[in-house]
Amino acid sequence: MSISTEIITIGDEILIGQTLDTNSAWLGERLNAYGYNVVQVSTIQDKPGHIVRSLDLAKQRADLIIMTGGLGPTKDDRTKKTLAEYFNSELVISNSVLTHIRKLLGSRKVSMNQLNKDQALIPEDCQILNNSEGTAPGMLFRDGKTTVVSLPGVPYEMKSICEKELFPWLRKNVETDAKFFRMVMTTGYPESILAAKLKNWEEHLPDNCSLAYLPSPGIVKLRLDIWGESEDVMETSLEKEINKLHKIIPKAIYSYAHEGIEEKIGEILKEMHRTVGTAESCTGGNIAKMLTSVPGSSAYYKGSVLAYAYETKRDLLGIDQDCLNKYGAVSEQVIRQMAEKARRLLNVDYAVATSGIAGPGGGTDTKPVGTVCVAVASKDQVIAKRFQFGSHRGRNIERSSVAALNILRKIILADLAKNQK
Ligand code: AMP
Ligand code: MG
Repeated sequence: MSISTEIITIGDEILIGQTLDTNSAWLGERLNAYGYNVVQVSTIQDKPGHIVRSLDLAKQRADLIIMTGGLGPTKDDRTKKTLAEYFNSELVISNSVLTHIRKLLGSRKVSMNQLNKDQALIPEDCQILNNSEGTAPGMLFRDGKTTVVSLPGVPYEMKSICEKELFPWLRKNVETDAKFFRMVMTTGYPESILAAKLKNWEEHLPDNCSLAYLPSPGIVKLRLDIWGESEDVMETSLEKEINKLHKIIPKAIYSYAHEGIEEKIGEILKEMHRTVGTAESCTGGNIAKMLTSVPGSSAYYKGSVLAYAYETKRDLLGIDQDCLNKYGAVSEQVIRQMAEKARRLLNVDYAVATSGIAGPGGGTDTKPVGTVCVAVASKDQVIAKRFQFGSHRGRNIERSSVAALNILRKIILADLAKNQK
């Protein structure tokens, strides 16, 4: 059976943007991985009326309701008292929780006051979920067919209770159909073009399978979900669909793991024992940042010339002044030189170069904002490409970086295939 699950986070600080709701993201990811079908996430005020109304509504939709927040000892946290009233369950001192609080405070050299003692008041009809990291335990209520769980808002306490207490209990007591997903990472096609290419395949997906498009500048992640009873059948079925997908867009897929293109490139370069460097203009070091954000990148990344100004392109990289004057910095002629010169200067196997008009100003009739040239040089060739992106500076920088890295990816994959022959 599929278990409909709702997450409710409680706290005024989340509603007014002071605290980012990371609890929902973490819980959603983990619960989905265990097969629980997360159908709604909501955030509400620290007000008894709101808590009660949300619970009433959630109970109509969900078999499992997980709430976080509002379990602190102070007056602004109202969840525990509200739940005790909601479930008609008297608050009584739990000796085991009291002992734990005493121990925890003792280890921190903090003396116990009434507020701390009150943390041990627990609704008598709930199951206690021990909190080894803090003073407020989690609470689990069974209400007919619904399970309601209340957890502290502090992320590390919430996670620790989930891992040690809640998830093991759920897996034993609230059985759910298995659910799997696979990520397919693509680049090179905008979402709408990709969707048109995949239309026929998508329409013929099995009934227990669904596809989600998750676009970001330069990248479209595809998530293929599948649910059912037999894990083996689901895995085989997913594999079959992924093979079909591969046949439709073989070049656009850069990975079947949830990773960035820079990580994939790092894996290939490491395997090949080859090196890369960068000469960046319009991307301002973003490609260097992406490549070096990968742990272990020192094995293949050698460095960068951030050649932003004309004179830097000329003086540091050695680009022809005549070429710069004649074609301009954003041109195929100059970008080819940038990649080639950087490859020699940095003494690397591959060099990636970018030059473009990121905007919002600086465009001309022939080179409007969003015109970007990228090139990659290897010892055998230089591949240069001109793109026309949009008018948003940040997105242009991201899309240019991914476009340049995608050319690099294709060149190194081709070289790898040559080596393996
Ligand atoms: P509470 O249990 O409501 O007293 O929350 C304690 C602290 O945990 C708050 O001050 C927040 O900083 C943090 N917190 C509460 N809810 C969340 C949430 N949904 N995501 C991330 N942090 C949270
Ligand atoms: Mg709070």
